[in-house]
Amino acid sequence: PADAVPQAPEDPLFGLMAAYRADDFDKKVDLGIGAYRDDNAKPWVLPVVKKADEILRSDPALNHEYLPIAGLATFTAAAAKLILGADSPALTEKRTSSTQTISGTGALHLGALFLSKFFPGHPTVYFSNPTWANHHQIFSNVSMPIASYPYFSKSTKGLDFEGMKQAIADAPERSIIVLHACAHNPTGVDPTQSQWKELAVLLREKSHFPFFDCAYQGFASGDLAKDAWAVRYFVEQGFEMCIAQSFAKNFGLYGERAGCFHFVTGPGADAQSTIGRIASQLTILQRSEISNPPAYGARIAGLVMNDEALFKEWEQNLKTMAGRIIDMRKSLRSKLEEMGTPGTWNHITDQIGMFSFTGLTEKQVLKLREVSHVYMTKNGRISMAGLNTHNIDYFAKAVDKVVRE
Ligand code: PMP
Repeated sequence: PADAVPQAPEDPLFGLMAAYRADDFDKKVDLGIGAYRDDNAKPWVLPVVKKADEILRSDPALNHEYLPIAGLATFTAAAAKLILGADSPALTEKRTSSTQTISGTGALHLGALFLSKFFPGHPTVYFSNPTWANHHQIFSNVSMPIASYPYFSKSTKGLDFEGMKQAIADAPERSIIVLHACAHNPTGVDPTQSQWKELAVLLREKSHFPFFDCAYQGFASGDLAKDAWAVRYFVEQGFEMCIAQSFAKNFGLYGERAGCFHFVTGPGADAQSTIGRIASQLTILQRSEISNPPAYGARIAGLVMNDEALFKEWEQNLKTMAGRIIDMRKSLRSKLEEMGTPGTWNHITDQIGMFSFTGLTEKQVLKLREVSHVYMTKNGRISMAGLNTHNIDYFAKAVDKVVRE
């Protein structure tokens, strides 16, 4: 009966956002938000997205019919090319199946659901510790057992590579290893290319199955190919894998829910027939979950990705976002170092993407909120996009103060 339903805990990030909104201090700083902000702390509609939007709206043939179950084909084909590279063997050998999803979350869910149905014995899914909190729920919801591998080293504020390798080597054969393709959330710490190569060897040895979560391609470094390097390397090595791809951050299309799920099979004589069967099952799953995906965001992203001039403009917009964030990293680090704030701050510029794991303790985080009206998650994560030329001094001084106490 309904009265037996227990109260669920509040999503910690939403609680933080509500507290921020309720604060009327004029210098309050929001560093919780997982969305890009411009130098005036405002949401930014990418100029190329505005342009694509106008092109779409001026088309008299535009309508609101359903998309096909697997989504807008011009969008999913371009999405596959974007992550895998146009000359990827997975595309030329036609062993990729791409399904449009409800952004990255929907792609993770569809992949998780597929694996829960078709990977016998429900292999354990391994996440980095820490990881994006939603990963745990998405896979648990489809009854997949979950576990974690060490990732973040508290002492170096970088990668705990030895711990990560050991856990992956110790995991039972054919485990599913979830990997952040670039700009790891929440730490901002990524393996180097040579570390990725070592990881590929390890995964291969244990016949593990990689599941890449790619939410920040182009947004992290400003270079789409660079941010896709790890995924492309694993494809080159012949891995069978899943990829969840989000266009929320790199197109600023958060609420439009544009995303894609790709299944790539390994090379081989029957790869095409395998991928055909996988695609047929994905279609059935998608049908029962959402029938068909939302159209507008996919139309915008698809238009931009398929038009040479718009694509170039998008790359510039990506450089603007990534560049501003990289500038904020440099500025924050140098301000803290200039003040001689106790501790080391090189990790601020070593880490990449939307987030930085500052190393601030929960006590310091709460103090920052109470005394300085700075809002960040308790694990010490800050959204770099929340910093700008108007508030970075204030924030650096607040950190300096709290660290010295
Ligand atoms: N994975 C990671 C690691 C993320 O950070 C995010 C966004 N916060 C997502 C997936 C999915 O986001 P969305 O569903 O908005 O695309």
